[in-house]
Amino acid sequence: MGLSPGVLAKYEPVIGLEVHVQLLTNTKIFCGCSTRFGDAPNSNTCPVCLGLPGTLPVLNKRVVEMAARASLALHCAVHEHSRFARKNYFYPDLPKGYQISQYELPLATGGWIEVEHDGAKKRIGITRLHIEEDAAKNLHEGFSQSATKAYIDYNRCGTPLCEIVSEPDMRAPEEAYAYLTTLRQILLYTGVSDCNMEEGSLRCDANVSVRRRGSQEFGTKVEVKNLNSFRFLQKALEYEIERHIGVLETGGRISQETRLWNQSANRTDSMRSKEKAHDYRYFPEPDLLPVHVSSAWREEIRRAVPELPEAKRTRFVTAYGITPYDAELLTGTQALAEYFEAITKAGASPKNAANWMQTELLRRLNDSGKEIEASPVSPTALAELLKLVESAQITGAVGKKVFATMFESGRGAKEIVAAEGLAVQVNDAAIEQAAREVIAKDPGNVAKYKSGNEGVFKFFVGQVMRATRGQANPQSVNDILKKLLQEAK
Ligand SMILES: [Zn+2]
Repeated sequence: MGLSPGVLAKYEPVIGLEVHVQLLTNTKIFCGCSTRFGDAPNSNTCPVCLGLPGTLPVLNKRVVEMAARASLALHCAVHEHSRFARKNYFYPDLPKGYQISQYELPLATGGWIEVEHDGAKKRIGITRLHIEEDAAKNLHEGFSQSATKAYIDYNRCGTPLCEIVSEPDMRAPEEAYAYLTTLRQILLYTGVSDCNMEEGSLRCDANVSVRRRGSQEFGTKVEVKNLNSFRFLQKALEYEIERHIGVLETGGRISQETRLWNQSANRTDSMRSKEKAHDYRYFPEPDLLPVHVSSAWREEIRRAVPELPEAKRTRFVTAYGITPYDAELLTGTQALAEYFEAITKAGASPKNAANWMQTELLRRLNDSGKEIEASPVSPTALAELLKLVESAQITGAVGKKVFATMFESGRGAKEIVAAEGLAVQVNDAAIEQAAREVIAKDPGNVAKYKSGNEGVFKFFVGQVMRATRGQANPQSVNDILKKLLQEAK
């Protein structure tokens, strides 16, 4: 569209997100069918989730517990009473002809999370969190008659979801990106979902509008669906914001509608207009009792909320004296944070633990396509190596080589150091002997050093380190070399 930055700057985007999260239960929300992903189509179904007449739903208690845990982690008020409703619409992936969802009385309301964007922290409000069942999955390709028929996998039908609706508090696509990232991290920490976007465990719709800067009124909003990756979310928002501004600048009006992100064409396409919007004819679900969360149960769930990323970051900075940048990285996932704390608990310095994890460990894990949970080097094994370096029993350079061997073989640091004779030669006489030989061999560079060329000193250090196979204490090498060079003629 190519609008100038000046034109774009006249408008302020207003963004709110609706995020559907699949809860990590073993069985579905209203029946005992498995929620396992990737099973043969229609193998995890029963009369209840197939919506056969005469069946009755039975609420899975674990669903309420997990949704409440997520709500508390998002600073929401969990209500003592909430209720399910029927959301009526007709579509092949919904065999009952209605979806059971919380509507007027959601499980939780009024929360917030703090996101960081452009170095500034900002609170994004959370309007509500409610529980609902998922629909089945329409499969439009991959079957012999896919050209003329749609196929439906009812395995997903009745999978428990919670929908998290934000306030329209975001003002830039990057802020929406930061919100979704932060939300995902919190949900992963609380263990309520695996948040796997490829498998559909985390799905995002965005409400977006623009208004003249300084205006208090909201512009006409458009809903964008099908944002099944972080990248698509940002691209779709950028596209929509420019589209809105383009329409308004040419005197047009934005129509309230639902649009779909078209990933192959890099644009949004209109899906349905407001006039064609569904009338869901919500009414209370007569087959289910209202949901009751007693204050005792709520407090029990609250105690199960783990330390959240933000609190962990702060604690890592104050308790371990590492930088906020390191703390951010090391609390990226709970597994990383636990690994770091286990190293320090085993006696290595937190600073070294942070450095070695970020350089040696994460690089090698990354190269071998492994997650930290599958690291061939345990935190205690890494701590053992770090303690050898910290106590100058081996040099840092040797430590890195030992780490590589540990990573490949799974052997311990002490064992490798002993077997390969890598311990620092504490014997200063041996260093002196090597230094004398190096100096004697190179009168040219000795002369340069004498005439004030400090640069060649490093060269001598390197030569001595090589002569001692990297096992000399660097400080001793420095001291001995300085003394000998001074004495040299
Ligand atoms: Zn079932």
